[in-house]
Amino acid sequence: MAPRTLPLGPTASLHNHTVWSDGEEEMAVMIRAARDAGLAVFGISDHWVCRPDGLVEDWAMPAHRLPDYVEALLAFRQQLETDSFRLLIGLEVDFFEENAAEVMAHLAQFPLDYTIGSAHFVGSFPVDHTREDWLQLGGQRHIDDIYHAYWQKLLHLCQSGLYDLVGHLDLPKKFAFRPSYDDGPEIEAVLQALRDSGMAMELNTAGWAKDCRDAYPAAAIVARAQRLGIPIAISTDSHHPSHIGRFVPEALQRLGGQLP
Ligand SMILES: [Zn+2]
Ligand SMILES: [Zn+2]
Repeated sequence: MAPRTLPLGPTASLHNHTVWSDGEEEMAVMIRAARDAGLAVFGISDHWVCRPDGLVEDWAMPAHRLPDYVEALLAFRQQLETDSFRLLIGLEVDFFEENAAEVMAHLAQFPLDYTIGSAHFVGSFPVDHTREDWLQLGGQRHIDDIYHAYWQKLLHLCQSGLYDLVGHLDLPKKFAFRPSYDDGPEIEAVLQALRDSGMAMELNTAGWAKDCRDAYPAAAIVARAQRLGIPIAISTDSHHPSHIGRFVPEALQRLGGQLP
């Protein structure tokens, strides 16, 4: 399936979580907060994680709840949409090479407006859970291994073309553990695959509040993506109403005024 054309730009916000996964607030609270903040388009994208090893993550939506999730959002659309405010139904889907096509074929039966393809794991290593996970890797060589494997996984994610939007492209930097080698060529391959896929990339502002103190992805990657003509959506990855609109001016500055 070709990626859908999404409403991008600073008055659209597509990457947001609620208590249906690891967000802190109910859908209604988040939606009303987005509407009150003056957004024109707001999408909820709770976590959908279907691990190939069958392990269940407590920060993701239980699989059997998806029909209720969609139904709840359809009902809120009826109640809360106005002429100047649209609510979209999204899902942040974890990418695993082993089952990605199968997972997306399953999701195609639901009236989702879009999906975000994200990688939170390298093998079974969770890249964005805790700083301790990174410390326990046991040194720079292992950190480098995580980066190599992560970029390889992102390359496959982008080549798959299965999603509408690619989430937090350089997420492994979250706790400020950086590779000791130049991963520029690996990133370039990922960006070229992303451009060829027709999917969009997000500029995710949440990283500015993390140890890395930088949005995902870094300025140089954003600049390269712009030169390649990759559509870019600003997103805040909100898990609380106070995150809505957070660091959006900084994101606009990073885009150099070149809005999608
Ligand atoms: Zn994520
Ligand atoms: Zn997220």
